[in-house]
This record gives sequence, C-alpha cells and structure tokens, in this order.
Amino acid sequence: MRWVGFVPHITRFQPFGIPYPARAINLTIEELEALRLVDLEHLTQEEAAMVMGVSRKTLWNDLKSAREKVVRALVNGWEIRISGENYIPYRELGETKRDKAFEIWRLLPHRNCGACGYGNCVEFAKQVAEKKVSPDACRFITKEGLEKIKKILEVM
Ligand code: SF4
Repeated sequence: MRWVGFVPHITRFQPFGIPYPARAINLTIEELEALRLVDLEHLTQEEAAMVMGVSRKTLWNDLKSAREKVVRALVNGWEIRISGENYIPYRELGETKRDKAFEIWRLLPHRNCGACGYGNCVEFAKQVAEKKVSPDACRFITKEGLEKIKKILEVM
C-alpha cells in the first residue's frame, strides 16, 4: 500500500489522430506518484519513499517501471491508461508515527548536508519522530520550523 498526494481526474491519454492505438499501457496511480515526486517535485528517491511510506527499493521499482511505460507509450504511439488500487490518498491518513516523521521532514531545510550527524533530512526526521534526538540538532532549521516541530512532538 502506498500513500499518494495526487489522484488524477484524467485517466486516459490517447495519441492525437489515432482513434484506435495499437496498444495501451496501464500506468498505476502509485507509479504516477513516484514519477511526480521524483521528476516533478524533485525529491530524492529516499524522500519520495518516505512520502509514499514504502522502502527505497519499492520506490525505485515503481519509478523504473513508470518511466519505461511512459517512454514506450510515447515512442510507439500507444494509449496510456491510469488506474490503481494499492494506494491511500494522504488526506485519508490516520495519526501514525510515520505521519509524524513525514510532517517533521516537511519542516526541515532539506539540505541533506549531514551536519546533524544523520546523513540526510529523512533519517533525521525519523529519529526526531522517535524522540531519539532533539530537532534543534539540525544546524539550519528556522525558528518557525523548530517551533512547529516541537508542537508536533508535544501531541505524540
Ligand atoms: S542538519 Fe538539518 S538540513 Fe542538514 S541533514 Fe540534518 S536535518 Fe537536514
């Protein structure tokens, strides 16, 4: 099960002037979300995996599969159909620890500089959510971000 932030309204794309394309490819909503996060929102694969609540390997598999399908459709003039059932829109998420890590990560500077000692912002956010490290260990966090994270931690 993946978490997705975008569920498309348009789910069929057909080559112009070809009413009956030779073939259609089925792109899943989960694959589209992986493409959106990495290629449009420019998240790292680790960040995108966290946002979708999956492992990096699963994210990479979705991304690889999505890129190949889209390129095949464009090169061959095939129809693209989007569907899926293995996802939960963010708005339906409950209060879980992973939600907290995600909310905390959103408030970090995303420099992935490692100055906090955790290598990147995703790992740091997970540790903060577990209350294993204080959010002010991030060298570049804003005062506003710090206050918001402290509020998130208070309700845990
Ligand atoms: S110091 Fe802050 S910006 Fe740098 S990796 Fe850690 S959390 Fe991210």
